This record gives sequence, C-alpha cells and structure tokens, in this order.
Amino acid sequence: MSSSEWEAVIGLEVHAHLKTRTKMFCRCELEYGAAENTRTCPVCLAHPGALPVPNGKAIEHTLKLGLALGCEISKHAIFARKNYFYPDLPKGYQISQYEAPLCGKGALQIPGGPRIGITRAHLEEDAAKTVHAGGATGRSVGADYSLVDFNRGGTPLLEIVSEPDLRSADDADRYLRLLRQTIVELGIGDAEMEKGTLRADVNVSVRKQGEEGFRPRWELKNMNSFTYIRRGIEAAVREQVAAYERGETLEQSTYDYDPDTNRLAVHRSKEEADDYRYFPEPDLVPVDPPRELLDSIELPELPAERIARLAEHTDLDAAWELVFSGNDWKAQALAEHGVEWKAAAAIAMNRGDFRPENAAALAEIVRANVTREALDDAFAAAASGSIDSATYLAQTAVSDESELEPVIDAILAANPGQVETYRGGKEGVLGFFVGAVMRETQGKADPKVVNRLLLEKLRG
Ligand code: ADP
Ligand code: ZN
Ligand code: MG
Repeated sequence: MSSSEWEAVIGLEVHAHLKTRTKMFCRCELEYGAAENTRTCPVCLAHPGALPVPNGKAIEHTLKLGLALGCEISKHAIFARKNYFYPDLPKGYQISQYEAPLCGKGALQIPGGPRIGITRAHLEEDAAKTVHAGGATGRSVGADYSLVDFNRGGTPLLEIVSEPDLRSADDADRYLRLLRQTIVELGIGDAEMEKGTLRADVNVSVRKQGEEGFRPRWELKNMNSFTYIRRGIEAAVREQVAAYERGETLEQSTYDYDPDTNRLAVHRSKEEADDYRYFPEPDLVPVDPPRELLDSIELPELPAERIARLAEHTDLDAAWELVFSGNDWKAQALAEHGVEWKAAAAIAMNRGDFRPENAAALAEIVRANVTREALDDAFAAAASGSIDSATYLAQTAVSDESELEPVIDAILAANPGQVETYRGGKEGVLGFFVGAVMRETQGKADPKVVNRLLLEKLRG
C-alpha cells in the first residue's frame, strides 16, 4: 500500500460542558455524580408550557472562549431548534445555534505547527444520558433495555467546530489538547474526557498529496479518549486508503469506533441538516452581547502563547510539557532568578512542588551548583514550607582549606598559561580558576574560601 502518497484531512467538532452552577435553560443545579434523576424540573423534562431562560454565565463563558480564539462575536446570535427523536431528548428537539452562532470565524495557532481555522463556536444544551442496562457502555450490545438519567439533560454545552485544517492524528491530538488546556485555564470548563465533560466528533477523509478539494468524510461520533481518537483517525485513514486503492468510491457516513477491535462500525447514514428542520427558537430572543460585557472579559496569557514564548528559551517539546503539566511558572521563576533556562525547565519538571515564594532561594542554591543530595534536601524543604538558602549553602559548602588546597594547586599546575595571563594583569582569569575548582569539587566548594585561596596563590 503506497500510503505515503495520501494525506489525512481532519476536522473536529469539540463539545465541552461549561462550568456553571445551573443548567442552560432552567435553574436545576448541576452536580456530577448526583443520584439519577434528582436534578430535573418541568423545563428540562419538557413539561408542556415550561419556558426556557438562558444562563447568562454560559453565554459569558462562550464569549470568553470566542475572544480567546479570536472569533468574530455575533451582534445578533440566535438560538435554534434542532429537531430529532431520541429517548434522551424529551422535547423532541435540542436548543442549539445554527445560522447565527455566538462566535464565528477564529483560529487556534498550534505552536510549532499549523494554524487551525475555527469555523464557529456555539452554545447548546446537552441531551440526557442513556444508561444501557446490560452494562455495555456506548453500545447496546448485551443490554436488555436502557434507562435514562435526565440529570445531564440541559447542561450548557459549548461546541467548537474546526475547519478541516488538521493533517494527521498528531495534529488532531495537539489541537485538542491545546483547546482543552485553553478551556481549563479560562476557567469555563473542566473538560475531562473520563467524565464526559469533553467529547469530540472526529471527521476524517483522505486525499492524494497535492489534490485540490476534499473527498467525503467519515464522522467518528462521541469520542472520549485521546488514545481512541488517535487510533480512530488511524483506522479511518487506513480503511479509506485501502478502499480507494481497491478502486472503490466512498460516501459520507457516520461511525462508532470500537476500542476493543480497533475497527469502525457504521453508526447510521448521515442526516442532512435538512432532516433536523432547524428553525429559530420562538421562546428565546436573540442575544446581543453588550459592549460592556465584552470589554469586561479579561483574558490571561493563553497556553498557545505561553508555549510559543517558552519554546524560545527551551525547545518546543519541553515547552509543551511544562505548560501541560502546569510546571511552566516554576521554570519561569527559576529562570528569572538567574538559573539557566534548560536547567530551570528540567528542574521544574522533575522536582515536586515548590512555592512561588521559594523560587529565589532555590535558584540561589541551584546556581551555587551544590551536590545532588543538598539540592534534594533544598527542594523538599521548599515543598514543605520555608527555605533558607544561606543556611543550605553554608551547610553544604566545603570550606576546609586542607581539602581545597590540593585541588587548587593541581589546577594551577595544570594551567601555567592562564596563571601567566593573570599575573600579567588580566585579573578576569580568576573566574576561570573558580569555575575549574567548582567543577572539580562538583560544586561543593565554598566559593568565598576558593576565591581567597586562589588570590593568595596567584599573587604570592
Ligand atoms: P455536521 O454537524 O453535519 O457534522 P459541521 O459543519 O458541524 O457538520 O461539522 C463538519 C466538520 O467536518 C467540521 O469540523 C469540518 O472541518 C469537518 N469536515 C468537513 N469536510 C471534511 C472533509 N472532507 N474531511 C474531513 N473533515 C471535514
Ligand atoms: Zn431543570
Ligand atoms: Mg458533525
């Protein structure tokens, strides 16, 4: 199979639960893991005559993400009914947004990678949760019947649709991780795949390198693990390439990825938008986000920006790792106190937690090049509370002249040229000797004593 001629084309529809106290259109409180069907009311159970009232916080969260992705913000966003039948949707329609979403075109720049166009980001309500009684998750295999838990029904759901700009499973993985990190850092959602608060529909097609336009896509529904998304994309690419190479044509269709077999199973043939009979929700007025609200939204430095900035000091992989592990501020703090960047990054990744207020003291100890044991002790102290760098340095330094003298003598003897240079008036060479002694003693020597001894010997 000459699969190297083929390239993948991928677009993601990412769904994230928004972190709000109450549901999207009613005042039921959201609580993950609450007993089944204890978070319901006439609105989210679709009793006749119940009317939706939009959640202002959810709108604000959506705008925040829209601003972070540089999206055009709508002046006249419209909620729309998306009609379909399913037991988890008691109204028979989902309130979503269709022609006029809150957030329009934007982009997410993957540091060191492509810039991914954002088509739109809109606000909708999640459906309830069907629980298959047979125990199988996500499939009805083995289930005699299904139960519905309406607690999740009506949870504010943000859908972020990307352009088909991703070209590999790797791209998709990085895009999704970055988007997830952005959602988390903006404080608008927990975005945890294991809890179902982040899910993605993954659209995949392939085409020949250099080919214009796109071929029909396969949509892998409701993917909720980074590993499965990667494997699902790889399976779709593999199967599509094989089909094209057998001379077949493919149609747009929807699949479920089965992690047990690593294969795709047909979900159902794709409904067209027409089938949903979208129309504006008559019970809700359009949303015109006020200028003051938009102006009041403050964005922190976003993960993509931080990774790009840190990558200038370390390398790209280290920058990703630092930001995604939440350790970047530690590296930053050490570097600001004079620790060389690569070392600061390595330390931030490998040495447990220390507090911002300890960064200066730790940096001083790191710079003094003390022994590994001393450094371990220092970090343990920094994690548990206070740290006194002066005490550490005094305790660990070798200041015993009888230990240091032979080392210094040997170094002076081995570098007669440098000794001449110093004695000829270039006193800067002293630094060279201090450095050599510190290296020879693995950083254990007390720099003050080393300096004094060196001066005595060089001048004498
Ligand atoms: P729907 O809701 O019908 O799935 P959307 O427009 O919401 O349609 O989402 C379509 C998704 O599919 C987008 O993420 C888009 O980038 C992606 N996509 C569109 N065409 C292709 C294609 N040929 N190959 C891969 N992905 C595609
Ligand atoms: Zn309710
Ligand atoms: Mg879709």
